[in-house]
Amino acid sequence: MNIQFLDLKTTYLEYKEEFDSAYQRVMNSGWYILGEEVERFEEEFARYCGTKYCIGIGNGLEALYLVLKAWDIGENDEVIVPANTFIATWLAVTATGAKPIPIEPNKQTFNIDPEKIEEKITPKTKAIIPVHLYGQTADMSKITDIANKYNLYILEDAAQAQGAYYYEKKAGNLGDAAAFSFYPGKNLGAFGDAGAVTTNDFELMEKLRKLRSYGSQIKYIHEFKGTNSRLDELQAAFLRVKLSKLDSWNKRRQEIAEKYIHALKDTKYMGPIIPENFIPSWHLFVIKTKNREYVQKKLQEFGVSTLVHYPVPPHLAQAYEDLNYDSGAYPITEELSREILSLPMGPHLTEEMVDYVCEILLRINQEI
Ligand SMILES: *Cc1c(COP(=O)(O)O)cnc(C)c1O
Repeated sequence: MNIQFLDLKTTYLEYKEEFDSAYQRVMNSGWYILGEEVERFEEEFARYCGTKYCIGIGNGLEALYLVLKAWDIGENDEVIVPANTFIATWLAVTATGAKPIPIEPNKQTFNIDPEKIEEKITPKTKAIIPVHLYGQTADMSKITDIANKYNLYILEDAAQAQGAYYYEKKAGNLGDAAAFSFYPGKNLGAFGDAGAVTTNDFELMEKLRKLRSYGSQIKYIHEFKGTNSRLDELQAAFLRVKLSKLDSWNKRRQEIAEKYIHALKDTKYMGPIIPENFIPSWHLFVIKTKNREYVQKKLQEFGVSTLVHYPVPPHLAQAYEDLNYDSGAYPITEELSREILSLPMGPHLTEEMVDYVCEILLRINQEI
């Protein structure tokens, strides 16, 4: 059997008529930037997340960056970030001129450890960016307590968590604002680059609508130096189709995750640990194993594709040479980067495929 990590074409083919009709609708409208599709998607996605507002942005990185800009975060400011995350979380901070202050993950959830945040807060700290890594929300109540105590903003990096729940609330509605990416591989993915911010803050919403479009709401009246980062009409139309399927896709991911978790019991792999009242979106299903290279190679020999999210932590990336971190600076994060492996996950997987992956994993378990 040959099992792809991700299969986006199958999704297109399965709902071809709906996507093609969305495409025709936009092409025939003659209006391609900031029109009805974006407005509708913004309404629908805000409703989905349970927030008052959604603002379509060009991609996830710029969604993060523009919120920080809207809050006037920049040089001489510090922003708390997870050490264990995709580099975009850090890039958004450094693009403003502020300094990322990394926090090690909790060893069980791999998400930012709230117990380690407070000791890193200084008078320069302005915001915390919890990342809902792999689709499981960060431990938000502890993070919210700290943010309230020190008067800090919370910006959720919800790029991997469309539809995830923390208690009765959805990702996107757990802080002062949330940034989403709709990169094609995300749970809710466009057919190109796309992103959004969700918030309940009216002023932030107004400012972001201007920031994404040259600092202007009324054409040629420029209130501040904005940028150009807009969700386009075609992607919004495609996203509206996909949003209507998201819950059923996430449900399928949940079923797959349950099968994997069951199969991993009493093996040498460490599977995900989900605290009570957290419902992940299961963007990724990540296991931890000391024999990562071997397991990955063996799985590939049996036709099972896996990936590593992420092999190089941001503090050791060449891009952040200037921050002068040595290897060993964030040992939990570094251990994860050596030992984690993402199994195939997504609605493209059939029962047979999931069973097959489990069977191969158990076979390899005998050898490690
Ligand atoms: C995908 C992702 C981003 C960036 O989103 P883009 O749309 O690719 O810019 C940011 N943070 C996390 C955690 C992501 O997974």
